[in-house]
Amino acid sequence: MSINSTSAESFHKLENILIIGNGGRENSLAWAIQKNELVKKVYLIPGNAGTERINKCERIKIDINNKIELVEKLDLLKINLIVIGPEIPLANGLADYLRKKNFKVFGPGKDGAKLEYSKSWAKEFMQDANIPTAKFWKVNSLEEAKKIIYSESIPLVVKADGLASGKGVFIPETKDECFRAAETILNGKFGKSGEVLVLEEKIQGPEVSVFTLCDGKKYVLLPSAQDHKRLNENDKGPNTGGMGAYSPAPLLTKEYLDRIIKEIIEPTIDELNKKNIEYKGVIYFGLMITEYGPKVIEYNCRFGDPECQTIMPLMDQNFVFLLEKCSMGNLTGYEKIDTSEMVSGCVIATSKGYPHEYKTGLPIKIGKIDKSDCQIFDSGTSFNKNGDLLTDGGRVLSVVCQDKDFDMVFEKAYKNLKEIKFDGIYFRNDIGHQVRKDFSKGY
Ligand code: AMP
Repeated sequence: MSINSTSAESFHKLENILIIGNGGRENSLAWAIQKNELVKKVYLIPGNAGTERINKCERIKIDINNKIELVEKLDLLKINLIVIGPEIPLANGLADYLRKKNFKVFGPGKDGAKLEYSKSWAKEFMQDANIPTAKFWKVNSLEEAKKIIYSESIPLVVKADGLASGKGVFIPETKDECFRAAETILNGKFGKSGEVLVLEEKIQGPEVSVFTLCDGKKYVLLPSAQDHKRLNENDKGPNTGGMGAYSPAPLLTKEYLDRIIKEIIEPTIDELNKKNIEYKGVIYFGLMITEYGPKVIEYNCRFGDPECQTIMPLMDQNFVFLLEKCSMGNLTGYEKIDTSEMVSGCVIATSKGYPHEYKTGLPIKIGKIDKSDCQIFDSGTSFNKNGDLLTDGGRVLSVVCQDKDFDMVFEKAYKNLKEIKFDGIYFRNDIGHQVRKDFSKGY
């Protein structure tokens, strides 16, 4: 694969990169960034145990909320580019603060992050720009919710307005269930994030994620991905942060992609500009391909996890230049990423009990891993004082492989998973079933 770039890359100053975040997403970003020979060091705040296995990477223990200490440390380390992984620091305006201190930052300011941290704002934004999305109601009280739920004839979904770590969306089967979901949200289950809720028309179709790197005016399209949100095989069970993914998504034909660019991506960037929002970061489009065409389910203001772990191995060493160009607002708009040679897949190994209660601190043993176009990005791990690798989250490891087709990808990934042992390890065996021949006859 290649990124066609016209600028003289060797003039870029990119020796020291900082990534903020502690998951598989941030480890995969670090892994992709360190490939560039201009990069001497990648620091992660805070990273996790897996960070230490990645070339050139080092963890820094510092509280990002202690801004004065943070800036002093970044000055000392002569950080050339900062990449902010998770949505919470973006929603809290960390990118704005660091830009004011003259750092180059990849990640939107608080105004742009609102696309993710307020679902009602994002829906109004789409309405203003005439972007296809499900019909919606912004609701401030249970009385209001009750009226809409019992008078509307269409099935509805219920969403907390603010950030809720992927747990604030309810897909009820009946009107009473729908009302109870609204009650749960408005009664404070999600704190401030649930002071307002959004009722939405329930739409149908396969889902696909599209990512753009945006410099405020121009953008670069990354390979698309499909993830598996449900815990169990056959896409059943509770929603999770993501049990696996594959990229690119064959579902996204050129015809759909052209429509998505014209009807969704470009109007989004135009509307950001109209609203004077200088968006320098990832715009993640969570889409549903309905019978009426692609519609936006949600925006995220950062890379998805596990989609990021899946896509990063498809990037070549120029990836970091794209991030830098976005941070400086100087994409040419002609950068292209050609991933035609390889496809990628990721399976997440989780702790028993996830997404509900689970144990941490369980020893992880990793046996003989096939390393040819395979990576293991730690999602939730730590070390004990003897240096043993332990589980430290619901999602523990992201097992990622690339090859010429998805059957080969997942054969390698599942072979590697056999070599990973910890008490209560759980993963789905059917990740990528839509694109694997062994599932072509269904379950
Ligand atoms: P969100 O956090 O908004 O992406 O929602 C989480 C998941 O809920 C999505 O990936 C969809 O599977 C589902 N969902 C959200 N909104 C809708 C909708 N309007 N109609 C049907 N399913 C939805």
